[in-house]
Amino acid sequence: MLTDIEIARAAAKRPMTEIGAKLGIPEDSLIPYGRDKAKVDAQFITGLNGRTDGKLILVTAINPTPAGEGKTTTTVGLGDGLQRIGKKTAICIREASLGPNFGMKGGAAGGGYAQIVPMEEMNLHFTGDFHAITAAHNLLSAMIDNHIYWGNELEIDERRITWKRVMDMNDRALRDVVVGLGGVSNGFARQTGFDITVASEVMACLCLSKDLDDLQERLGRIVVAYRRDRTPITCAQIGADGAMVVLLKEAMQPNLVQTLEHTPAFVHGGPFANIAHGCNSVIATQTALKLADYVVTEAGFGADLGAEKFFDIKCRKAGLKPAAAVIVATVRAMKMNGGVAKADLGTENVEAVVRGCPNLGRHIANTKSFGVPVVVAINHFTTDTEAEIQAVKDYAASQGAEAIVCKHWADGGAGAEDLARRVVALTEVESHFAPLYPDDMSLFDKIDTIARRIYHAGEVIADKKIRDQLREWEAAGHGKLPICMAKTQYSFSTDPNLRGAPSGHTVPIREVRLSAGAGFIVVICGEIMTMPGLPRVPAAASIRLNAAGETEGLF
Ligand code: ADP
Ligand code: MG
Repeated sequence: MLTDIEIARAAAKRPMTEIGAKLGIPEDSLIPYGRDKAKVDAQFITGLNGRTDGKLILVTAINPTPAGEGKTTTTVGLGDGLQRIGKKTAICIREASLGPNFGMKGGAAGGGYAQIVPMEEMNLHFTGDFHAITAAHNLLSAMIDNHIYWGNELEIDERRITWKRVMDMNDRALRDVVVGLGGVSNGFARQTGFDITVASEVMACLCLSKDLDDLQERLGRIVVAYRRDRTPITCAQIGADGAMVVLLKEAMQPNLVQTLEHTPAFVHGGPFANIAHGCNSVIATQTALKLADYVVTEAGFGADLGAEKFFDIKCRKAGLKPAAAVIVATVRAMKMNGGVAKADLGTENVEAVVRGCPNLGRHIANTKSFGVPVVVAINHFTTDTEAEIQAVKDYAASQGAEAIVCKHWADGGAGAEDLARRVVALTEVESHFAPLYPDDMSLFDKIDTIARRIYHAGEVIADKKIRDQLREWEAAGHGKLPICMAKTQYSFSTDPNLRGAPSGHTVPIREVRLSAGAGFIVVICGEIMTMPGLPRVPAAASIRLNAAGETEGLF
């Protein structure tokens, strides 16, 4: 088997006009970014209002192994499978953060014969959206320090500035920094830090906004600092929102590219899956739904985090009604959930698969509890044995879901045709999607509901300080916001080593953060990294251009 990058490089890409035409996008509404990427013109998108929506299919997964379970690969494979059986299809996934590519290998464009191209560019600068977000974020940072420099009319408490700076690079040295050193003309020295760009609230705002006006309102609402009396100061008070929208105008237009099999793919936005909601932009999904009959999209992490946030944040806020969900499971992840160590995943072990299956069972039941019909996709690895696959199929059947073996990684869309047909059949029946909790439940009860109903926790514990903070936000008018949980992706609990389907555990809340612009309350349970570091031997050390000018060592 060729490597991902070898397969991607050999792709015979079709012109973007042809890809756009598949969805009825006229040439003059495609803004070319090089030869194989285009943005879709904002005016064309506005003109789609009033059209009926296609069917939205979510790809989610069981609690993953550290390598990822193949959600993106399956999203791409299913999209290609739907196209092959004659359905007008579009794929919607996230853009990749540039920084992590130089740490550990692993791209965001899918894998094997189910990939989006051009994959090197999609993983690097792409159309510059993340650079625009970095610039918009740091403009606000600069204007905050500038406001203080020129007299601090708003009475910002310099110790209570929550807005940091961002950069799209893994750089642990920037986590905590002091700015403003060097004397009177450089402003007031204060401690702050850098986050990685994808962790910026500007990213979450861009991904949840329906248009540029909505984006400006959200940016304006971002709380950047507090006064000594603890009253908040917003981005709009600093006066940065208008200029930030100018910087983000192009970035708000969704990017169109293609799969190896020329299925149209929108790749747009990429918020963190922990302190944000972890799915592509609302504007890309809504555009795709107006143009295609079937739209396949992905949510980050396992279904306990990714699908829950997709349903309770993105779908609730954007009024989306998912028609079906695909839960990706792999035999090796079932084994890991059944207690097998990573090094032993290659050996047949049916008992471990069976022991790990309750993890899948809980995700099936949880997803169904949102009123969305479910099918399980067994993303086939060459090491899987017949007996192991049969064990997963039998288990899924016992939980009222069909499990279908998919070989898109090895065979492209042809390997996902069975899944595609099953998905089409599921969407024939009307879905009864409803979010897990109502807007007007108290913030603490929302957290409690997620913990009990989705994680099967026994209780949620939080200091008085945290409970008081939640009540303060309710009093300030933020009580209707949904919750954005930030916890380990490896377990239903907050302990990454507790695999399978644990019950009755305690969910301790460490910290809560208000994202008033994006429109959610972040609830942090455990360590959350918003500026990653590089490993001892970073991938960057072996990345270079070869004699032909191609990138080597990236994947
Ligand atoms: P996720 O979206 O769940 O994080 P990805 O789809 O990005 O996972 O896949 C993670 C990695 O696993 C990629 O490098 C991909 O090439 C690889 N991969 C996915 N499916 C398979 C498979 N069936 N066989 C071998 N490798 C796979
Ligand atoms: Mg993915």
